[in-house]
Amino acid sequence: MISARAAPGLSRRAVDLPRSGIRDVMERASGRDVIHLEVGEPDFPTPPHIVEAAAQAARAGATKYTPSHGTPGLRNAIAGRLTADRGMPVGPESIIATPGGGTALLLAWLAILDPGDEVLIPDPGWPNTEAQVLLAGGIPVRYSLRRESGFAPDLDALGSLLARPRVRALYVNSPANPTGAVFGADTVGEIVRLCAHHGCWLVSDECYEAIRFGVALASPLSRGWERTIGAFSASKTYAMTGWRIGWLVAPHELVEVATKLAEAVVSCPSAVSQAAAEAALTGPQEIVSRMSAAYERRRDLVVPRLEEAGLLAGTPQGAFYTLVDVCRSGMSGRAYALDLLERAAVATAPGDTFGPSTTGFVRISLATREDLLLEGVERLVDHAAG
Ligand code: PLP
Repeated sequence: MISARAAPGLSRRAVDLPRSGIRDVMERASGRDVIHLEVGEPDFPTPPHIVEAAAQAARAGATKYTPSHGTPGLRNAIAGRLTADRGMPVGPESIIATPGGGTALLLAWLAILDPGDEVLIPDPGWPNTEAQVLLAGGIPVRYSLRRESGFAPDLDALGSLLARPRVRALYVNSPANPTGAVFGADTVGEIVRLCAHHGCWLVSDECYEAIRFGVALASPLSRGWERTIGAFSASKTYAMTGWRIGWLVAPHELVEVATKLAEAVVSCPSAVSQAAAEAALTGPQEIVSRMSAAYERRRDLVVPRLEEAGLLAGTPQGAFYTLVDVCRSGMSGRAYALDLLERAAVATAPGDTFGPSTTGFVRISLATREDLLLEGVERLVDHAAG
């Protein structure tokens, strides 16, 4: 990695920004005959009616800038889905559409953080959160998601961290990357209560909201704490990673500020992609449950095999990842992932990239064609056996 000393004239913050270890493995694996279990991307194509809607929109002239917060059609479609799926009475003024859920989250951090403000982020958690908080001038502080408690937060420990004077926000992600945990209603209720008690923002990353294996979604949104922000994405729900559409649901004062920020940073999301996402949200939803059921079937194939081999770190209840415990090897997740890539031609995400607690783990993605996933897991098991 480039260091600040080796790059005179470049911003220290930019040069020192931590890089996702997943990209590192992806780059080493690229163009080689390997099984890819490292990437968090649905293997399904974007459903054809969505692609067709985008093509029609492009032909009809959706090729220009749109309002910075997104088209009225998309914002209304998002509001409509939240009302239909969750009974949430939300209007378009509480919504900003963005280029992907990642940008939605970055805008949230830029909107709420002053330099030196602390943000509580999970260990383990999605690596981009740490980088984004740093970019926005904040200081990430980890809270543990312990394996013994199914990767749910320890609420007493969270309460103590929230009492720190500089804490401005708590970030939660359920269904979770990389653990696959889905927080229960009691846990979520207590998290909301703690944030309200300490007057801090609650940023709820719900990008995997639709991918759950027989468990209900408990969301902090609409639970009465006004400083709650929801981040969403079309990427995983509708197999639309490359279209780059996500959104924030937040108090409208925050949406106004985030719109100003979006204007400065991205102008607006792609017009064609917004038409595609509108079609996704207003069209048939069976495809969403069909894809989720496929991930669940794959989980049920992989989990017993990993368990039998003594490699299972926990049974995922949602999202499409499984953590694999390779602590026995004595290697770091990164060293293990590179060794596995070289000796077994399987690419995995190194656990170190998600936080200090998962050094000694690798993550595999269930969003992989079934035969490849099973072959990849067999190779992993053989590799671990020695
Ligand atoms: N949040 C989490 C936890 C993720 O894992 C991802 C992507 O992997 C995102 C947000 C952002 O996804 P996108 O920017 O594709 O919407």
